[in-house]
Order: sequence, then C-alpha cells, then structure tokens
Amino acid sequence: MRVERKAIPISGGIALGRVVLLDRSRMIVERKQIDPASVESEKDRFMTAVGRSKAELLSIKDGMGSTEEGDHLQILNLNIMMLEDELLSGEVLRLIESEGVNAEWAVNSVLSRKSEKFRNVEDIYMKERLADIYYLGERILRNLRGAGDEKLRLGKDSVLVAHDVSAVDVVEYAKHGALAIVTDIGTSTSHSAIVAKSVGVPAVMGLEDITLRACPGDRIFVDGFSGTVILDPGEHEIDSFRKLKSDYAALEKKLLEYAKLPGRTLDGRVVRINANVELTDELGHASCFGAEGIGMYRTEFLFTKSANYPGEQEQYENYKKVITSLDSPIMTIRTLDIGGDKFPTGMELSRMLNPALGLRGIRYSLRDVETFKTQIKAILRASASTGKKVRILLPMISGISELRKAKAIISEVASGLGEGPSWAVGVMIETPSAAIMASDIAAEADFLSIGTNDLIQYTLAIDRVNEHVSYLYSPFHPAILRLISGVVDAARPRGIPVAVCGEMAGQLPCVPLLVGLGVGELSMNTHSIPRVKKLLGSITEKESREIARASLGLKTEADIRDYVTREVIKKWGDSLPPEFIEEIVVPS
Ligand code: PEP
Ligand code: MG
Repeated sequence: MRVERKAIPISGGIALGRVVLLDRSRMIVERKQIDPASVESEKDRFMTAVGRSKAELLSIKDGMGSTEEGDHLQILNLNIMMLEDELLSGEVLRLIESEGVNAEWAVNSVLSRKSEKFRNVEDIYMKERLADIYYLGERILRNLRGAGDEKLRLGKDSVLVAHDVSAVDVVEYAKHGALAIVTDIGTSTSHSAIVAKSVGVPAVMGLEDITLRACPGDRIFVDGFSGTVILDPGEHEIDSFRKLKSDYAALEKKLLEYAKLPGRTLDGRVVRINANVELTDELGHASCFGAEGIGMYRTEFLFTKSANYPGEQEQYENYKKVITSLDSPIMTIRTLDIGGDKFPTGMELSRMLNPALGLRGIRYSLRDVETFKTQIKAILRASASTGKKVRILLPMISGISELRKAKAIISEVASGLGEGPSWAVGVMIETPSAAIMASDIAAEADFLSIGTNDLIQYTLAIDRVNEHVSYLYSPFHPAILRLISGVVDAARPRGIPVAVCGEMAGQLPCVPLLVGLGVGELSMNTHSIPRVKKLLGSITEKESREIARASLGLKTEADIRDYVTREVIKKWGDSLPPEFIEEIVVPS
C-alpha cells in the first residue's frame, strides 16, 4: 500500500531500494520460508517467546508496590492482556502455518496490522496504545532470539528502516552499503544525523512510525533533500526518481568544481573553510571536497566503536593519519567528547537521567585523567613524529578552571615527551557560561571554536536529539547571534582565531551572517564545503556586515530568518545557482 511521508531531511541524496526493517534492538526482521516439517516447531518457538514475555511482565508487576497504580500499572496490565489474547497469538500461529514463514516475520506483520487500526482512531488514549504495541513487539522479538546474535547482511538495494540509530550504527550500515537510512525518531543535529551527512548516506529522520508502516522487502523511495519517503511508489514516481537521480549526479559534478574555489569573499576577505571529520575514512573526502584544514576531528568514534577504549599506539596512528591528511596549518583534534548522545557500547553513563547535562566532554576527561593523559600523549606524539603543529580542542568547557586543569595536564604530558611536539590549545564555546566568559577564556587559549550545536541546545534549553522540540531549535535565535557576536568581539583584542564548527557553519543562509559577525573560520561536514565556498565567493564582507548588524537589532527568530534570507536573495540571488536559492529560502 502506498504511503507518503515528509519529515526531517538529514542528509542529501536520493535512493530507491527495498526496505530492510530493523526492530528496536536493531535486528533485521526478515521473511524466511520455513520448510513444512518445521512449521510446528516454529509455532512452539513463538509460544515459548510469548510465555517468556508474559513471565517477564508478571515479574515486573510483582516487583511493584501493592499500592502502586496509575498509567504504569495499566499499561502493564494491557500488555499482559494482549499476550493472553488468543486472537493475537492465533493470528500469528495461523500466519506461520498458512504462509510457512518464520515467527519473527509473522509477529511483525500481525502487530503492524494491529497498529494500523489504532492509528486510524481519533481517540488520543487509543493512539497512545501504539507505543504499547511497539514495546510488546520488541519484547516478543527479543525473546524469539538472543539479542546480538545476528550479523548485519545487506543486499545491493537495501534501505535501512529503524526506530532509532546511533552514530556508530550509521557508520556500520554505510560500510555495509545501505542506500539510505530512515528512522522514526531523530533530529538534524543528533550525532547520528551528523555522521550520516559525513559518510554521505541519504537519510530522513523523525518519521514517527515508519517502522510500523514498512514491511521487509517493500519498495521505498527516499529523498534526503526534501525529507520525502514513499513506500510502494507508483510508476510515475519511479520515473521522477530517475530524473532526480540524474539531476543529482549533475549537481555533484558542479560541486567538485566549486571545491577548487578559495575560501574568500568577492571583496577579498579570507574565511578558512575547514572540515569536520568523524572517521579517518573521510579524510580523502575532505581533500576532494576542498577542505582548507581540519577544523575538528571528533575522536569519539574511535572510542565508541567497541566496548574497550583504544590504546595509546592505536590512537597515535589514528591521529597521525589525521594531521598528515592535508598540507595545512589547521589540523585540529578534539579531545574525547563522550556523553550527551555519544556513548561506548553498554556504558553506564548513558543511563544518567540528563546525559547532556552530566559527565560529558572535558568533565569526563578530568574525571578519568588517565584516559585523558593517554589521549594527549598520543596526539602530541603524532605531532612530534610528523613535525606538524597540532591544535588540541577541548569540548564542553564551562569555565576557566577546567581550561587551566586541562592545560596543566597537557603541559605535564608534553614535558615527559621532551623536544618535538608543537601544539595550540583551543576551547569549544558551546555552553552559555563559556560564551559569557569568552574574554577571560580568550586570554588563556590559543583559539576558540564555537560549537553552535550545543550552544543552541544549552542556551535555548532545547534537547538537540528530541524531535518534539526541534521546531524551536534554530541558529537564527537572537540570543544565539548575540552570543556569537560577543565571543568574536571578546577574542578580537587577543588576536586569536575564532571558528564556528557547529552545523550552522555549513548552512547557506547562515554563512553571510557569520562572516558579517567577524568569524574567521568555518568548519563543516565535508559535503557542505563546495557549496559554502561557492556562496562565499558570491558575497561581500561589507554587505554581510550590514546584514549582521541589522540582524543583531531584531528581536525574534522569525524576524531574523526572514530578514537574512530576503537580503541574501536580494543582494546575491542572481549570481547563485538556482538550487541554492531553494535551500536559502527553506533553511534545513
Ligand atoms: C557543537 O556542539 O556544535 C559541536 C561541533 O560538537 P558536537 O556536535 O560534536 O557536540
Ligand atoms: Mg558539542
């Protein structure tokens, strides 16, 4: 059945493929044909899983206090009732028998059909029961097979459809050749979204219930530019897919031309265009797409890809690859920014109530000093052995004392290494306190890099991974512009560089604003670099300053957004490629 949805466009590109559905524990729900002799044992396997699921729920219920009542208990009772419902298990058993299919697929099909009924009712309470169906399905599927025992196998035309994905999952799926990724939840500044952009896999997130709409093997069309996802597209839509695909290929060619442009405005102001890199595999792209430096290498992925942290030698080799990847003085390695929505597999920290406000970034490094020292030693050794100066960037600094402690550790580690390493210490300005203290921080740092992804999250009190509040999340908020302006002004007398390395740096309508505010370096995912260079070469610093100055006087996000987009189109629209105009009018 045809279903069309529009949600958050995460990573550009289009794909036409077949659904590979992942359940909530991120295991593939596959249709497997059972040989007739095994049908009875498959039915038994299902009934055993139902029995186990029920026993689990009853034991949760037993553990609740006798006086406990309310939603939690009601939901639990409803789940138990559904498990006892012979109609439900009967339907699954019949499907296993009539179609000769595996129990996992039968469970998924029956629950999808049930959720369809709930979706079409008006009653909010009934609609909320959809979530119960998700959880019940997840529980039965988990009990049908031990978690983690399945290897990811993707075909040539696989499009991953999942409830949620972690940044590490995205890397894994991309490596296995997924054509695109679509999810129920997620936002454009979550780390999984950032990584999808980096590895260049088209992605749409925040589709709410796409996992319940899609069946394994369904044909699916994904447009990562507009955020459109179509299940079971019609013939005319498949034709339009082919047209889009060839337009996209032409655009890619043009982008490679833009990559060669210098990071300079029409009136000669140099703005360095650097790359944000997550994986060493991307370093080749950084160079092809015209990066003039590495503005931020996020080291988290080196740490989160497995349960064990990498040793000093592994890190040293990794960092050496990074700092020798380009012939540029700007080679920036950010120290571990664990926490928020980035955790190593199974780490206890992820269960903190407010991970974004918890032990994250430099706080974690100053707590686990040995891990921090190992990382610093590996970075400094990489500098010493290559003779290249390295910029060390500290995440989540909220005040001077954290900066001083970190610098003292860096000096101590360096003194143990003797002659050789050469480094600069920079501070991520991503908490409101750091932005307010920017002048004092600038006096003790060698450079600043404004992390707008978190600065927006913490200043506007909007969880950057929560799609329910993503409508409030905007770089055009007056508070954000004023903070950025304050940081640039605070750093100017110290003569130190100020960069922006959040997603904002790669968003076309934000570029004139940041240039006008006096930001000297922009660091972004590699795919955005050619577009930003092209835009930069079409605008002037003089007029960008006027736009920034006028924007600082406006009072609402909408006023600023409208004003900036209007001015950019009025002043430079004629010299910009038509596809840029659309992006400027509807900033993602
Ligand atoms: C930021 O917060 O803007 C940033 C660049 O860091 P991250 O997205 O890794 O938190
Ligand atoms: Mg950050």
